[in-house]
Amino acid sequence: MSKQKLIAGNWKMNGSLVANEALVRAIAQGMGDADCTVAVCVPAAYLEQVNKLRAGTRLELGAQDVSRYEQGAYTGEISAGMLREFGVRYAIVGHSERRHYHGETDDTVAEKAKTALAHGITPIVCVGETLAEREAGNTQEVVKRQMAAVIHTNGHCISEVVVAYEPVWAIGTGKTATPEQAQEVHALLRAQLKAATTHSDRIHILYGGSMNAGNAQSLLAQPDIDGGLIGGASLKANDFLQIIQAGANRK
Ligand code: PEP
Repeated sequence: MSKQKLIAGNWKMNGSLVANEALVRAIAQGMGDADCTVAVCVPAAYLEQVNKLRAGTRLELGAQDVSRYEQGAYTGEISAGMLREFGVRYAIVGHSERRHYHGETDDTVAEKAKTALAHGITPIVCVGETLAEREAGNTQEVVKRQMAAVIHTNGHCISEVVVAYEPVWAIGTGKTATPEQAQEVHALLRAQLKAATTHSDRIHILYGGSMNAGNAQSLLAQPDIDGGLIGGASLKANDFLQIIQAGANRK
């Protein structure tokens, strides 16, 4: 049987105390004993609330970012140590929205992954090309460069990260990579990780970019797609639950 898939929701800057409660309760109840790992990466302001709501369930908690620094004069930043105090198991790093709007570089992303790992948090490292980069035929080069920075900074610990391939042109656009397009890049990433660690098989490589209830099954059936990072569809309990079911190993 293949390894358990990881289905992670990225709520982005969405939610409210009232909406979160209904959503988390519906997910935790609806996922039942589905044979996959499920996480929600929520805005930092709601970590405490969601950590309490998920108590006693199999739902895991994630953050959407983490500081590369340990502590100190970094106004607005949230450290990995702080996240741990709220039950955080995963932290997204290098999401394309942070690379684009907040100027995060490959090196910053690699440092964030390292700090997260040092605190027992699994970084979900996002890589992916823009439409212009794909059209220029540079997809492989871009994705490999982004991944190489994280491998270089994290050494043998690279086997502890989760990778998310998120083509930027597919995020929030409704345009999904075809299963073949996604698999091609996932295989490339797997080969790159294999050259860096003997434990590459245990690394989850997620696909992200307009994954939804309708396309999840075919994407998740690809040999190197070990789960999904889901934005918009993770805000609708029924859609997210259908993706979870698509990712669950059959008993
Ligand atoms: C994301 O934000 O990581 C994402 C994949 O978004 P969406 O599913 O909405 O494209």
